[in-house]
Amino acid sequence: MEIVTRYAPSPTGALHIGGARTALFCWALARRHGGRFLLRFEDTDRERSTRESETAVLEALAWLGIDHDPVPGFEGIPRQSERAPRYAEVIERLLADGHAYRCTATPAELEQMRERARAEGRKRVYDGRHRDAGIGPDCGLPYTVRLRIPDDDPVTRWSDEIAGPSGEAAEDLDDFVLARTDGSAIYHLAVVVDDHDMGVTHVLRGREHMTSTPRQLLIYQALGWEPPRFGHVPLLVEPGGKKLSKRKGDVSVQAYRDRGFTPEAMVNYLARLGWSHGDLEILTLDDLARLFDLDGVGRSPAQVHEDKLIWLSQHYLRTLPAQRLHVHVQPFLDAEAGRPVEIDARLARGLELLRERSETLADMAAQARFWICDEIELDPKAERKHLRPAIEGPLAELRDALAALDAWDEASLEAALVACAERHELKLGKLAQPLRVAATGRGASPGIYETLEVLGRERTLARLDAALERLRAAPAG
Ligand code: GLU
Repeated sequence: MEIVTRYAPSPTGALHIGGARTALFCWALARRHGGRFLLRFEDTDRERSTRESETAVLEALAWLGIDHDPVPGFEGIPRQSERAPRYAEVIERLLADGHAYRCTATPAELEQMRERARAEGRKRVYDGRHRDAGIGPDCGLPYTVRLRIPDDDPVTRWSDEIAGPSGEAAEDLDDFVLARTDGSAIYHLAVVVDDHDMGVTHVLRGREHMTSTPRQLLIYQALGWEPPRFGHVPLLVEPGGKKLSKRKGDVSVQAYRDRGFTPEAMVNYLARLGWSHGDLEILTLDDLARLFDLDGVGRSPAQVHEDKLIWLSQHYLRTLPAQRLHVHVQPFLDAEAGRPVEIDARLARGLELLRERSETLADMAAQARFWICDEIELDPKAERKHLRPAIEGPLAELRDALAALDAWDEASLEAALVACAERHELKLGKLAQPLRVAATGRGASPGIYETLEVLGRERTLARLDAALERLRAAPAG
């Protein structure tokens, strides 16, 4: 059997990590088995659904590298808002077969039923008053269409691919509404018809949808359709176990991207939120497409640990092929410099030096600032500490030595610095630090020779001149 999975977001905002993880698991299950991974937009909430949100979701998935397959029989990605005639057709069929019936209970009547159920401690609300009333379409009253839950063997339990035996007692479910008084289908009906029409074999979705499954199973049963397998992925929670809240920072994929996490790190992080494979921590999309299985999905809520994401981010910043790193870091360099930055051979070398020292792409770009910006600011603390009047003479001499170098490479730079420090009987650091602050504005950078080699002679000398000028202008003391 070909495995067909789907991710069915409601396009009412950005793609959050919980949704992204569901999409990733659905994708991985399909890829692992050579099946198909489909998308559909559940845009029945007309007020909150927007095309911008659809685009945001698609962009986030594309950024993560999660590709989807075409849906046979559909043009593009199905939208529930465009399928009303199909849902109406299915509702008609259920009515014709006697699996559904019309109900003219008014809101006031329903409220009474609700109160009675509450008083009697029943979950089942609807009292079945129109079940056998044979109300026709021309009854002249507004009516809903309700599902007739079979008296014998209603299917409300299933063996969940993740949670194990699951379900609700049939006596707790009442003849729920399938179509509203305006004829529009309710969500559960749309989901069932869509999953069936799209040929979905495995519905993987968040745990919060678990209470929908018994109702959806009853609709499958009424239609005589074979239901898909269901798997409900555990919730994401804060480290303390509390529900993940958006208040604690934006948990959209876009927000993580904008903070400078690579898609590789993000995918790896998402994969390990509730899924494991032995003790593998480092996982790429390719690995997931080879290894993903539902047995590896845990049953308890998955804790979101940001330090784990940072650890993964560092791993990928160290190990990604240079070309890939450049593509990822480019927008951050541009933003840091305030103009398009060309990653030439020299800057590429600089980025190599930052791989081991960066937590995120944004961090890497910030650390590259002195290479990509013409103007630098001196960190006041570093300036106070290292650019003291006494260093002016040695630094000026060093400046001239650097200007006179035949070759601008690490070895020549080192030789010049060592010679100058010796002449002034300074420990190397006592000259290297002022040089670093003058050239980079900072008290910390990659090794000074490499840093200067990447910076180039012209800019190094210009910055030394500027620093010397500030030294000379500063009041003595
Ligand atoms: N539209 C639902 C959501 O965005 C998904 C429901 C489902 O997967 O069945 O959470």
